[in-house]
Amino acid sequence: MQGWLTVPNTQGRVVSLDELDSEFSESVVKAGRGKPSVCFQCGTCAASCPIMKFDETYSPRTIIRSAVLGLTDRLLKRDLIWLCAACYSCTERCPRGVRPAEVISTIRNIIARKGYIHQSLKMQATAIVRYGRLWKDEEFVNEIRGDMGLPPISAVDLQEVAKVLEHTKVKELLGEQDAEDKP
Ligand code: SF4
Repeated sequence: MQGWLTVPNTQGRVVSLDELDSEFSESVVKAGRGKPSVCFQCGTCAASCPIMKFDETYSPRTIIRSAVLGLTDRLLKRDLIWLCAACYSCTERCPRGVRPAEVISTIRNIIARKGYIHQSLKMQATAIVRYGRLWKDEEFVNEIRGDMGLPPISAVDLQEVAKVLEHTKVKELLGEQDAEDKP
């Protein structure tokens, strides 16, 4: 389809309609978490977002608009989608009930299934696969805890963790290599 439009925060960049991925946008809407299509771009979410204080290029408002239009390249650019801290400030304040934090979570799920997972999350998930928690048990930690009068950290039941990981398909998302690589 021929045509063009402009998108907020693009410094007037013209976007060709050929860049729009309607399948992606439909899958975000169909997921039913949040209501991205009723967003009227007021910017309340952006004004409430603590992440924007650290990175001005991150904006929940722009993410919602990009999702509705199907600008997947924009969503994947610079891994911005993974910066959301899920604080829900945007969701608390959105006057349209868009629930931006849930839309962002949906987008993450969709792109993760396509293989786009931020390296930091892969590392965390890989640690859970291996150790059942985010770090490897080290004896010295329990020694320090003992010195402080604290009980030792309880052991993790890796079989139970494995069941959860299988149910949630975490290993599939990570790919065999990331899940099995030795530290
Ligand atoms: Fe859209 Fe809600 Fe953000 Fe306003 S606060 S821009 S309506 S998502």
